[in-house]
Amino acid sequence: MLKVKEVKAKSILNKSKIFDYCLNPYTGCQINCTYCYARLFMRRYSGHSETWGEFVDVKVNAPEVLKKQLDKAKKGTVWISSVCDPYQPLEAKYALTRCCLKELAKRQFPVNIQTKSKLVLRDLDLFQEFETIEVGLTITTDDEQVAKLFEPRATSVEERFRVLEKIHSLGIKTFAFVGPLLPGNPERLIERLEEKADKIFIDRMNYLNSVRGFYHQLGLHKETSDRFFHEYKERLISELKKRKMKFEVLF
Ligand code: SF4
Repeated sequence: MLKVKEVKAKSILNKSKIFDYCLNPYTGCQINCTYCYARLFMRRYSGHSETWGEFVDVKVNAPEVLKKQLDKAKKGTVWISSVCDPYQPLEAKYALTRCCLKELAKRQFPVNIQTKSKLVLRDLDLFQEFETIEVGLTITTDDEQVAKLFEPRATSVEERFRVLEKIHSLGIKTFAFVGPLLPGNPERLIERLEEKADKIFIDRMNYLNSVRGFYHQLGLHKETSDRFFHEYKERLISELKKRKMKFEVLF
C-alpha cells in the first residue's frame, strides 16, 4: 500500500551533472519501474524503510521554495525530474509540478521534462509559455506486454505515442527516451515515433545486476546480454537513418 507523507523541502532547485539544475517535487515514485535506478539509492538516502514504489514524500512547499531560489539563481536549464516522475498519479491532486512550471515560466528558465505519464497533457498551456522547453516521453519498447511487466503503473505505450504526437503537433519540441532498451521490435518502435519526436535518445539497461533476476524469472536470458543491446541498438540506428531522424546514442 502506498504511504504518502506531506513534507516541507529546504531546497527544490538543485545542481545537476546532466543539466544545470534538477527539480524533484516528490521523493519516491508510484510508477515503480522494475529497473528504476533511483530505487537503488533513494530509499536509503531518504530514510525510508518501505520498498521503492510504496512511499512518496510530497514536497508541499516546493513552489514557494522554488520562487525564493529562482530570485537568486543564475539562469540555466532545469531538468524535471531526475529521481521521480513529475507526472506520477499524485500530481493530479497536488499539482506541484504545474505550480513549479508557472514559476519557471515567469522567469523563462529553460526546462527539460521527462515522463511516462499522460498527465503531462494537462500542462500544455504552460509549455506554450516557455521560449525554450523540451518535453519527452520515455518509451522503452513498442511491446505493451513487456512494458506492463517492467513499468507496471506507467501510461500504456500506445497512449504514450499519442501523447507525444499531441505535444509535437502544437509545435513544442519533443524527444523520446528509448531506454533502457527492453525487448520489442526496434523497426516498429521507430516507425511509431516518426513525426512525433524531434530527437530520439537511446540507452541500454545500466544497472543490470539489480534486475537480472527479474529478467530470468521471465525467461528473458539473452535480453540481458551485451550482444542483445548492441544488435538492438544497430537495428534502431539503421531505421533512424533510413527515416532521417535525429538521434543520440548514450552507450
Ligand atoms: S518513472 Fe522513472 S523515477 Fe519513476 S519508478 Fe520509473 S524509472 Fe523510476
